[in-house]
Amino acid sequence: MIDHALDGVISSIKGSLIEIKGIENEARLFDLVKVLNHNILGEIIQIHSNYLVAQCFESTHELSLGEKVIVLNHPLSMELAPGLLTKTFDGIQRPLEETFMNFKEGRLERGFEFFPLSREKKWHFVPLRKVNDKIKNGDIIGVVKETALIEHKIMVPHTISGKISHIVEEGEYTIIEEIYRVRQGDSEKSFIMLQKWPINLSRPFKTRLLPNEPLITGTRIIDLLFPIAKGGTIGIPGGFGTGKTVIQQTIAKYCNADIIVFIGCGEPGNEIANILKQFAEIIDPINQRPLMERVVVIANTSNMPVSAREASLFSGVTIAEYYRDMGYDVAVIADSMSRWAEALREISGLLEEMPAEEGYPAYLPSKLSSFYERAGVVTAHGLDHLGNQRIGSLTVIGTISPPAGDFSEPVTATTKRVVQGILTLDNKLAYSKQYPAINWLNSYSNYPEYVADWWKERNIDWSEIDIEWLGCREQINDILSQENDLKSVIKLLGQSNLPEDQKLSLLIADLVRRSFLIQNAFDEIDNYTDYKKLLGIVKIILLLYQEGKKQVEKGSIINMMNFSEVANDISKIAHTLANEDFHAIEEFKDHLVNHKFNRIFNNQQFKQKF
Ligand code: ADP
Ligand code: MG
Repeated sequence: MIDHALDGVISSIKGSLIEIKGIENEARLFDLVKVLNHNILGEIIQIHSNYLVAQCFESTHELSLGEKVIVLNHPLSMELAPGLLTKTFDGIQRPLEETFMNFKEGRLERGFEFFPLSREKKWHFVPLRKVNDKIKNGDIIGVVKETALIEHKIMVPHTISGKISHIVEEGEYTIIEEIYRVRQGDSEKSFIMLQKWPINLSRPFKTRLLPNEPLITGTRIIDLLFPIAKGGTIGIPGGFGTGKTVIQQTIAKYCNADIIVFIGCGEPGNEIANILKQFAEIIDPINQRPLMERVVVIANTSNMPVSAREASLFSGVTIAEYYRDMGYDVAVIADSMSRWAEALREISGLLEEMPAEEGYPAYLPSKLSSFYERAGVVTAHGLDHLGNQRIGSLTVIGTISPPAGDFSEPVTATTKRVVQGILTLDNKLAYSKQYPAINWLNSYSNYPEYVADWWKERNIDWSEIDIEWLGCREQINDILSQENDLKSVIKLLGQSNLPEDQKLSLLIADLVRRSFLIQNAFDEIDNYTDYKKLLGIVKIILLLYQEGKKQVEKGSIINMMNFSEVANDISKIAHTLANEDFHAIEEFKDHLVNHKFNRIFNNQQFKQKF
C-alpha cells in the first residue's frame, strides 16, 4: 500500500486539517498523505512555501505535533473491480462492515489496514480475447459474473494499446492475479482485474449523446409530469420530513437503471442502516434476486468526519462511471447534497477562506457542477469481442434540505442553475399527507421532448382518445394550472356558483390529484405504476374531461353523485389495480364510454326547452 515514503512532520492541527513541514517541495496537490502512527489518511489541499495543509479523513483528536507523515504518490482513487456490488463503503471506500468490526473507541485500531475489495475472493473469469489480438483502451478482455444480475466487463485501462501476448484460460482468479499481458513495441505490461481511478477526474469516453430514454421510476407524477431522463440531472429540494428520503429510496428500489449507486451523505446513521436493511430485503421482480446485487452503497453518516463526506459524492460517481463504461444505465442517488455542502463549508472555515453567501465557499457552484457534470449518456471507449460499441448512462439525483424550507438559500439556488429538473417538495402537501409531496406548480423538468419518442413507441391505441404521452402531460398540466387560476374566484363566489365548464375543470383537477398524483410509496401495489397503467389512467381521466367539455358546451350539467362514483372507481383502479391487470383498465374504459357518460352528464337544458 505504501508506494513511496517521503517524511514530513505535523506542525499544526486545526480540526480535521493538519499542517505538515518537510515535504512541501516533493508533494503534489491532492496527493494522499498518511499519518504513520495512526494510519490516518489525508488529502493535500494547499501547498505553501514552507508547509502544506492536508485534510484528514478521520478524527485528528489523538494526533500530536511532530508525528511522522508520509506522502503517497497518488490522489484519492477508487478501486474498480468485481466485488463492488452489494458492498457498503465509506466516503474513501473503506468497506464498512470490516471497518466497524475494527473500530475501537470510535477509531480504527492503530496499524490496521485493509483493502476496499477482497484480495482473496476468487471470481470466475471468462476470456473473450486471445493471444495476438490487437486491443486498445476500453476494449473488453473478458467477463466475470459479478452477481446473478450483473456481468462485470473487464476493460483495458485507459492509455493502453497493443497486442495481447498472454491471456489466462477461463477459471477462478482473484482481482490481483495476472489476467493478461499487452505488448507494445519492446515493452510488455501485465494486467490484473483491479484498476484504480482518481475520484476527482471524470473517466474519459468517446462521445456524449443526447438523452432519449426516461428513467422510469414508477412514481406517476414524476414519470408523467416531471420525467427524469437516463443520463439526466435532477434536484429534489424539500424541508424536513417532506419525503426526500422516501422518494430517493423509492426511485432506488424501482427505477429501471441497471445499477444503483446510493450515496448516503451526512444523514443520521439509523436512516442509513434502515436503507441498507430495506435494500437487503427487496427482491427484484424480474430476476427474483435481492436488489443489493445491483447496488453499491456509499455511506457517510452524520457522525463521520466531514472530509470523507466531502469525498463521498465523487467516490460514488467514479464507481458509477466505471459501470457506465461497461454499457450499463447507472443511477447515482445522493441524499443529501446539503449535508455535503455543509462539509465543504466547514473545511473552508477551517482554512479561513473568505466566505461567500451564508458562509459557503465561493467555489460551491463550481464544485457542485463538477459533480452533476459527470452525468450523461455516452459512447464508451473500446469495443467488445464482436466489435460492438457500448452506450451507457449516468443519471444523478440529489436531494437538498434547505434550512427552514428557504429555497433561496445558496445550495438550492446553485443547484437550480446546474440541474435540468427540480422536484420541489412542499411542506403544505406533506402536512396534509398528500404524498409524494411534489408541488406540481413549481417543479419542472427539461426532458419531456427528449423522451417523447420513447413514449410514442409505447402508446396505447384507444380509438376514443387520440393523444400521446406528450399531449397527455400538456393537458394534465393545463387542468392543474386552471385549478390554480380559479382558486381566487372560488374564494369570492364559492364553488357551486361557478359556470359548469369551470366546475368540470375543478372536478377533473381534483380527480387528477386524488387518483394520479397521490401515491403511497409503502403500498405493495401503489408503490410502482408501470408505463402502460400510467397511460391507461391518464387517458381515462382525459376521456372523461373531453366528453365533459363536449357535453357542457351543449348545455349539459354534471350529475355530481354519478361523477363522484366514477371518480372513486378511477381512484381505486389507480391505487389498487396491479400493473399486470391492464385488461381491467381497458374494460373499465369501455364501460365508461358505453354506459356511464350519459349518466354523468345530463342534458338538462334540452329537457327544459322542450
Ligand atoms: P425527509 O427525508 O424529507 O426528511 P422522509 O423521506 O423521511 O422526509 O419522509 C418523512 C415521512 O413522510 C416518512 O416517514 C413517511 O411516513 C412519509 N412519506 C413521505 N413520502 C411518502 C410517500 N410517497 N408515501 C407515503 N408516505 C410518505
Ligand atoms: Mg431524509
